[in-house]
Amino acid sequence: MAENKIRLRIVTPVRELYNKDAEMVIMRSSIGDVGILHGHQPLTTTLDYGFLRIINGTEEIRATIFGGFASVDSRGITILSDAAEWPDEIDVERARAAKERAESRIRRNDSNIDIARAELALRRALIRLEAKERK
Ligand code: ATP
Repeated sequence: MAENKIRLRIVTPVRELYNKDAEMVIMRSSIGDVGILHGHQPLTTTLDYGFLRIINGTEEIRATIFGGFASVDSRGITILSDAAEWPDEIDVERARAAKERAESRIRRNDSNIDIARAELALRRALIRLEAKERK
């Protein structure tokens, strides 16, 4: 690990999205955004849906991360998440279709529909669309 940097590893069921050093990492934990620098105290937290910001000097890159766990220890930050992407990888049409599907499920007001699940799908789609808009 480079001095004053922290190693960040992001793993999903399908791949390792990132395994490099960073000056600062800001993650969306379940209780809000948490900024992590080299030497941060050990921490384990669940993650919310949102952006993970990786900062090196004046450069900032962002990944979308959808839940999971983050563990911070002397070796660095390890994030395990069901789904994570770089903005370039996001398929806008797929996200729009997911948004419409979720909205129509929520609107239908049908007791057979799991509204909480549709609301989570809607949040994922909105975050993916926002990631594309911000690029
Ligand atoms: P969908 O209904 O379109 O599958 P979802 O929100 O249910 O969307 P997830 O369960 O969050 O999808 O993700 C499943 C896998 O598909 C993950 O690997 C995720 O990175 C990928 N993925 C989901 N939506 C997109 C998208 N719009 N563009 C690129 N990859 C996507």
